[in-house]
Amino acid sequence: MEVGRKLMLINGQWVESGVDEWISVENPAQKGSIVGEVPHAKAADVDRAVLAAAKAFERWRQVSARERGKLMIRIGEAIEAKAEAIARITALETGNAIRTQSRPEAMLTADLFRYFGGVASEIKGETIPLGEQLLSYSRREPIGVVGGIVPWNSPVGLAALKIAMAITAGNTLVLKPSSEAPLAVLELARICSEILPNGVLNVVTGTGSECGIPLARHPLVRKLSFTGSYEVGRTIMEAAAERIVPVTLELGGKSPQIVFPDADEPQVVEGVLLAMRFTRQGQSCTAGSRLFLHESIYDSFLEKLVKKLKALKIGDPLDESTDMGALINQTQLDKVCAFVQEGIQQKGAILLTGGLPPQEGPLSLGYFMEPTIIGNVKNEWRIAREEIFGPVLVVISWKEEEEAIRMANESHYGLAAFIWTHDIGKALRTAHQIESGWVQINQGVGIVPGQSYGGFKQSGIGREYSLEGMLESFTQRKSITINLQF
Ligand code: NAD
Repeated sequence: MEVGRKLMLINGQWVESGVDEWISVENPAQKGSIVGEVPHAKAADVDRAVLAAAKAFERWRQVSARERGKLMIRIGEAIEAKAEAIARITALETGNAIRTQSRPEAMLTADLFRYFGGVASEIKGETIPLGEQLLSYSRREPIGVVGGIVPWNSPVGLAALKIAMAITAGNTLVLKPSSEAPLAVLELARICSEILPNGVLNVVTGTGSECGIPLARHPLVRKLSFTGSYEVGRTIMEAAAERIVPVTLELGGKSPQIVFPDADEPQVVEGVLLAMRFTRQGQSCTAGSRLFLHESIYDSFLEKLVKKLKALKIGDPLDESTDMGALINQTQLDKVCAFVQEGIQQKGAILLTGGLPPQEGPLSLGYFMEPTIIGNVKNEWRIAREEIFGPVLVVISWKEEEEAIRMANESHYGLAAFIWTHDIGKALRTAHQIESGWVQINQGVGIVPGQSYGGFKQSGIGREYSLEGMLESFTQRKSITINLQF
């Protein structure tokens, strides 16, 4: 075990679960090898954590926003100093390559705290001109105990986002990382706990059913912020509906990339590869996993893309020369393989590169898969409709602009989109018609703190990542009106 046993954080103390059960965390790059263990938290542990958070809220809400912001900035600095350790643990438990994924994620984590710390003083209200006889103003107040639940694909960045937004806004937090990747989040929590008062941040490590459900349903949790799959997101919304608590859902996607005929260029090929998040094994909610190529460039573009993908180095996530690591676990690998198998059996589908994982050789020792492209796909097939969450890109050809936009929007998801063309009019026209929360033109990079982020349609509800997102999602407005003639 490289990381060993880690405890969870409740009320400033590092504790086991009440039942002394442990969850093993596997190294996805070496099947069966355990990198660490975390407490198997149950409902009683969640209850302890929520009570601690509720108690801490009484004092934390009274700390001025400016002071809270200063602490966030200190946390950001402390994370940067330990970024390499966080990156290594993330690579070990997620299989995400350190150079292309885990290290940039650790650095982003520091930036998130600095960003929210910097804008903390903007948690302010307005005065409303109701006349000379009245003074009316609004306040942005914290909501209370937040229940935050995050997935495994970008565990530290997403945990940092929930922590920084909830706590800067004056709430306290009980955070549940995924049981697949809790170790780096606990490392992040250690840094936070050295700077924050006890109970402001609590982390419970457990499974969705035994720890996530009790957290979502806890009567003292006043706000739910969930990032994960559409299926679980629905149950979180049901739990929120039971008690009428506000909920933010950041869910999945099947995001389109539309390449216009003038964009058959190496830099676009590079951008499409990045936008598909091939170097995170496609395990990204914003992955541009449906490629709409204009028929006039279909063959030449794909020829370049396949060549580029074949040059990616797949292997040990901790090796600096590795471009692409391993998928998270056997279940995910099986799910992705089932999609590939189904896709290539469709009439007319063409496997252009990759396919089912190697059965022998070094890559068979972990959950590795080659980047895979399936061409000649129909937009209505399941591989073009469902989120695969693996390194599988489906390609669909189009003739007319309206047809590309219509197909791009024929999805129950609406998280991200990517448009590739030199024609600015065409690009903006398309961007305005696309039903997605975030459209990028001529780039395929990750989100930057300050941009409101969230989905249209079944990709989610609410916005996070920005000052506006923090205000909308983590504060509640109160209006106060004073009669000046009294
Ligand atoms: P998941 O929904 O299975 O799990 C997410 C979290 O919810 C985990 O911590 C899990 O333990 C917990 N959970 C599971 N069942 C639960 C339940 N019934 N009640 C409460 N909590 C429960 O998702 P995953 O497989 O960990 O992550 C992949 C998914 O996350 C993909 O769909 C991806 O698109 C999505 N995602 C979305 C964003 C975004 O910002 N929109 C970012 C990253 C990942």
